[in-house]
Amino acid sequence: MTNKTIETAERELYLALIQRAQYRPIATQWLANLPQWLSDVKDKRRYAHAPAYLSAVENLPRIEVNGVDLNSDVLTIEAQLNEGQSKQITALMKQLMPWRKGPFQIGTGDNKVFIDTEWHSDWKWNRIKPHLGTLEGRYVLDVGGGSGYHGWRMAGAGAKQVIIIDPSCLFYHQFMAIRHFVAGFDTDMDTDKTGVGYRTHYIPVGLEELPSSSDQGNQLFDTVFCMGVLYHRQSPFEHLNQLRNQLMTGGQLVLETLVIEGDANTVLVPHNRYAKMNNVYFIPSVAALTGWLEKVGFSEVKCVDIDTTSVEEQRATDWMTYQSLKDFLDPNDPTKTIEGYPAPMRATLIATK
Ligand code: SAH
Repeated sequence: MTNKTIETAERELYLALIQRAQYRPIATQWLANLPQWLSDVKDKRRYAHAPAYLSAVENLPRIEVNGVDLNSDVLTIEAQLNEGQSKQITALMKQLMPWRKGPFQIGTGDNKVFIDTEWHSDWKWNRIKPHLGTLEGRYVLDVGGGSGYHGWRMAGAGAKQVIIIDPSCLFYHQFMAIRHFVAGFDTDMDTDKTGVGYRTHYIPVGLEELPSSSDQGNQLFDTVFCMGVLYHRQSPFEHLNQLRNQLMTGGQLVLETLVIEGDANTVLVPHNRYAKMNNVYFIPSVAALTGWLEKVGFSEVKCVDIDTTSVEEQRATDWMTYQSLKDFLDPNDPTKTIEGYPAPMRATLIATK
């Protein structure tokens, strides 16, 4: 018998948006689009692997969950697994490879399943978290949330509601696989539905497809995160405006993206590939990016972190066996990408609408 994890998650998402629509009419437009978004992600003509991903999630076993720790670097589902459960969960989770953003751990004893992801997403979170102020009581949107790792951490940090969006079919199912275990705890413990499973939602859609409103008081979010997405967009100003349109007045944008050294007029547009990625467009300096944010109407723009990505933070693992950062850098000069551009350096900017 298959579990009802995705069905339940999607029902909770509908309910959450119906509640929000009482005070924010824009949520009605989200609701109108939801059936399409949720059926597209299951459509095998769009995503050949969709049925396989779905069946991996639906076949995850029900286990007894003793706790969920969203505040530890390894996002951990506390449970005692027997050897059979451990093998079954490992096999099903491996059908959802490559696992890029994490790490996650299901179980705590000898038979734990540790999902060692390509990225130490916890390192990024630890760099950014101290600069956020409190997330307590806030409605949060995480744009391009990948597997949902950071979204769970936002819920762990006290957000009232987190909506993760990302157009990836695989990452949607990775989120649901983790949610399966999170909900194993929530449903037992939280009859009032305030548990993290009910506060953290995922919509498989790109930012540009979201309804938005310029009416004062008709936005849904206090905080919008957008990490690792901007350089993939062909039109950065359009993207920044779309981020702004999701925010309530006074709301906070947390923007993390690739940057280069330079002044307010320095922007790199890689001619071909950048670190072997063929979908990289604009890599500004911090000063240029600050100017862009001001130009679209953000204020109090500040850069809170700059960090050169290390081959310890992004690397191939048993759960992501393709090439990773070390293969994208010049073997003779790790300060350069294989194409000769400056090696990946990332900045986080925080701004107010
Ligand atoms: N935010 C995570 C993941 C970044 S990877 C982190 O910082 O670690 C970039 C993600 O953006 C991918 O998961 C990709 O599917 C998603 N993405 C790409 N285009 C997008 C769009 N138009 N809107 C929202 N997400 C997008």
